Parts: sequence; C-alpha cells; structure tokens
Amino acid sequence: MTPALDEAREVLRRTFGHAEFRGLQAEVISEVLAGRSALAVLPTGGGKSLCYQIPSMIRPGLGLVVSPLIALMSDQVAGLVQSGVAAAKLDSNVDLNTRSETWRRIEAGELDLLYVSPEGLMQPSMLDRLQRTPLALVAIDEAHCVSQWGHDFRPEYRMLGRLAELFPDTPRLAVTATADSRTREDIRNELRLAGTKEFVASFARPELSLFAERKRGAAGKRVAELIAARRGRSGIVYAGSRDGTERIAQDLAAAGVPALAYHAGLDKNLREKRLEDFLDADEAVMVATIAFGMGVDKPDVRYVIHADPPASIEAYWQEVGRAGRDGEPAEGITLYSAADMAWAMKRIQSREVDDTVKQVQVRKVRQLYAMLDGMSCRAAGVRRYFGEEKVRPCGQCDLCLAPPESVDATEAAQKALSAVHRMGGRFGRGRLVDHLLGKTKEPSSFEAGLTTFGIGREFSPTGWRDLIDQLLFEGLLREDPNDGRPLIGLGDADGVRAVYRGERRVALRKALEGFDATTRSGRPRKRTRTGDAAPELSPHDQPLLEALSNWRRGEARRQSVPPY
Ligand code: ADP
Ligand code: MG
Ligand code: ZN
Repeated sequence: MTPALDEAREVLRRTFGHAEFRGLQAEVISEVLAGRSALAVLPTGGGKSLCYQIPSMIRPGLGLVVSPLIALMSDQVAGLVQSGVAAAKLDSNVDLNTRSETWRRIEAGELDLLYVSPEGLMQPSMLDRLQRTPLALVAIDEAHCVSQWGHDFRPEYRMLGRLAELFPDTPRLAVTATADSRTREDIRNELRLAGTKEFVASFARPELSLFAERKRGAAGKRVAELIAARRGRSGIVYAGSRDGTERIAQDLAAAGVPALAYHAGLDKNLREKRLEDFLDADEAVMVATIAFGMGVDKPDVRYVIHADPPASIEAYWQEVGRAGRDGEPAEGITLYSAADMAWAMKRIQSREVDDTVKQVQVRKVRQLYAMLDGMSCRAAGVRRYFGEEKVRPCGQCDLCLAPPESVDATEAAQKALSAVHRMGGRFGRGRLVDHLLGKTKEPSSFEAGLTTFGIGREFSPTGWRDLIDQLLFEGLLREDPNDGRPLIGLGDADGVRAVYRGERRVALRKALEGFDATTRSGRPRKRTRTGDAAPELSPHDQPLLEALSNWRRGEARRQSVPPY
C-alpha cells in the first residue's frame, strides 16, 4: 500500500469508522490522490461518496462535489459535519448570511468539501470565485445524469463538460451506480474524460432475489397480495404515475398495510415528512414514482416491487438496488405487461429528442422486456447487460429456481400474424382473439369473409392472449395504445416473415396458463407440423409476404426510427 493510501485508510478508520475499503474504493481513491481524473461505476450502496470525500480531505485545496438533488446534498453534508469534516453546501436554499460565511471559509482555506448543484456551479460569479480557489478535485456524483441515454437525464449536467477547460489542473472524478457501456462512453464524451481510467465494479448483488411476472388484472391488488406475504418488513413500491401511487397506497392502507404515497406533485414539506417516516419506521411501505429514490439510504428495505416496470435495465438495477443495502436478503419483484411496453415506446416516440437518442431508448426498452419476459437467469442477464463476462446463473431468481418449460407455438403464431395482417391493424386484442376463435358477434361481411376468421378454434382464449403477449414482447406484433383503445398491428417485418416461413420459431412458456397441450374442448392440441420444417406457403400466403416487403419499404421511408 502506498503512503498516500495509508493516509486514506487512516481517515477511513478515524473519521468514518470503517475498518477496510470495500470493492474498488481503494483503487479509485489512489487514482484521484495521484491527481488523475477517472470514471467509477460502483453499485448503489457501494460507497461512492468516500471515493471523493477522502481525497478531498487529504489533497490540498477544496473538494467540489456536484450533486443533482438538494436533498442529497443536505444529507451528505449533515453526515459529514457530524463526523467532524469541514463540509458545506451552496444551493438556492442557503440564506445570505450562511452564504457569505461559507465563502469566507472557502477563501480562508478552512473547508474540505463544498457541495453544489450543477446550475449553481456554472453561474459565472461562482465560477469566477472558484477559479481563484485551490481545488483538490471536482467530483460529479450521479454522473449518468449527463447522458441522454441514461435513465435520469438532467440538461443542467450537460454544462459540466466545460469543467475540463475551467479547471484544467484539477482531477475530475465522475461516479455513478448504473451505466452500461454505451452510457459510460457517453459520460466520458460529455465530461471530456477521454483517456482516463474507468473503474467498473461487478454488478452482482447476491443478496437480491429477482422475480418478474406478467400482470393479470389490476396491479394494485397483486401488490397488496405480495405485501401481505411480507408483513413486518419495509419496502418500496414503484408505480408509473402519480395517480398510480395514490391508488396503490389507498389499496394497501385498506388492506391494513402502513403505506405512504410519494411523488413530485406533493407539497415539499409533506414529501420530507413522509421520507423521514419511512426512514425511521421498522415496517413502512413507500409507494412512489421514480421521484423517490436517488440517494435514499434506508439499509433495511427488504423488497422493491415494480407495480409498473422501470424504463430500462439501468433504471431497474438502480431501483431494485435500493433493497438489501445492509447486505441481508432482499427481493425485487416486477409486474409488467405488453401494454406497459407499448406505452413506453409511445412515450419515447413523442419526445423531442434526436432520432439516434430515440433509437437507443427504444433498444433499451426492448432489452428490459427481453430480460423481464425471458427464460434465463435474470441476475446474469442484468450483469451481462452491463458488460460483465463469464457470469453464472444466480440460482435464486424465479427462472433459476423453476426453469420454465416451453412449447413450440410457431404454427399458432403464423395464424395470429396472418389474422392481424388481414384485419389491417384496425382491431384490439379482444377482437383479434374472437376473430381467431370465430366468435365475433355479428362479424361484418369483411371480417367473416377473411380466410383467418375462426382459424384458431383449437386454442383457448387465454392461450391466445398469452401468445399475443408473447408476440408483442418479441416485437413481432406491436400495440398502439391509441389513447386507451389499443390497436394491434404487425411488428418487425423481417421477424414476421421469418416466422411465417418457419425460419424463426416462437416458443411459449408453458407456465403461462391456458395455452399448452389442451384445447378448449379438452382434447390434446393437434400438432400438425413439428421440428424445424418450414410450413408450406399456401396460395393466399404469397400476398402476405409481398405486402410485408412493401410495408417494410414504406415504413423505412416514413420513419427513420423503427417502430420496435
Ligand atoms: P453510494 O455508492 O450508493 O453512493 P454511499 O457512498 O452512500 O453509497 O455509501 C453507502 C453506505 O456504505 C454508507 O452508509 C457508507 O457509510 C457505507 N460505506 C462506505 N464505504 C464503506 C466501507 N469501506 N466499509 C463499510 N461501510 C462503508
Ligand atoms: Mg451516492
Ligand atoms: Zn437466476
């Protein structure tokens, strides 16, 4: 151990009361102590704060910490002051007297750490004064906020790229918990960190057991069931909307579970009060939007339930990562549906960002749902997503515990895809199922005349719904939310054609009720074609393939972002 690191360890023990560095802390701290910039990606709860706090205390000059949230800054500064560290913050809440006293301390060289918001730091008056102050380092906490590809983009973070020119001789340390390789690349570009070392910890969280299930009915009811089986422990429930949090919190309260809602629409004092109640309680459930989370450090959160799915695997890992921070077993449970995926896609398309950003975001949504709806170890999937190699199955997620069996549903998929094609994408899923079953009440002559009317009588309605979900998750069908009256259309044209030709098989998870082996009348499902043999194209299928080619060409011209 180098002398500098000896000193760092001394500070770790004396000031922070920890015996040893954890994970990559020692390596990151050595790099910064040597005066070099770096990017560090360490898991939530991995101790990123110490990576910049300790060097700030050891190196001469002031350590500047850029942090996205005032609440985060306040917590950290209060903690530091309590440990006897000379730390302060400058944000919009700081009154004039405190402000001038803080500047006096900065200029007298009395402060080791100063926390600032990105927009506060980039004010000319602030920069001016800081440029005359000796700096130990500039830390950029939650650095993923600089990337539009990340899940928590903050436009103010963009300005931080200028720090490289403004403070050319000061090491800059960017830290974040969740950044896949593309986001890391983006962070390095934006913050001008080319050529610096990158420290990426393992994304393994062995204390977490992961589960996911397709939604069946109202999420609130299912969440209440899940929590009923977990009474006496604290947890976080994430919902996709403010209304959703209120609704679920009410459902839970009605079921006798002490639950609070939390979202950005609540009064600030109420929000702070609820946060405190949550942090202090032995059993508390916070039902929140993603406004709740960054920096929430409650060690004994035993479960995180997503009543609505997160935006990406990065967001998922960040949110689920808030469970089990004490290292004791904890669970992440996600409820998801094809409709959630459709909404996520629609939201991306309606954003005012570049097409390339949209493409990345669309891909991230697809990767998320591939993991959620997949058939192999979730934890391994997440770790591979972050670029880890040689990862083993975790042995404790639902898919490891009970590997799903699958049935070949290619033939049924061909029927469904043909039906959607012939119906011209004008109907929703209920109508599509009825059409396949030949059950539509008073079908129009158009519909009754279609060759696909009633071609799926051998399967149950639930079976068809599961299969349609499967095709949506695989991108073979797409669902346009259409303001609450969703319409189903064909998805990826190449994929559809491959299924149609039998070059791509569609596997359906057996555990999904209703589909497998039995028909509506209880007879075993007749398997006409098995194995890899491509189905014959009948005369009326040729137009479908042609239509697909034309559709694809038209589609490619119309929109540069693929539907999904
Ligand atoms: P994050 O990486 O999520 O920002 P923090 O810096 O907030 O994590 O640290 C999370 C917790 O881990 C804190 O309570 C902190 O005191 C603790 N911690 C950090 N480093 C160590 C260490 N080397 N040994 C023990 N506990 C540590
Ligand atoms: Mg942190
Ligand atoms: Zn697993």
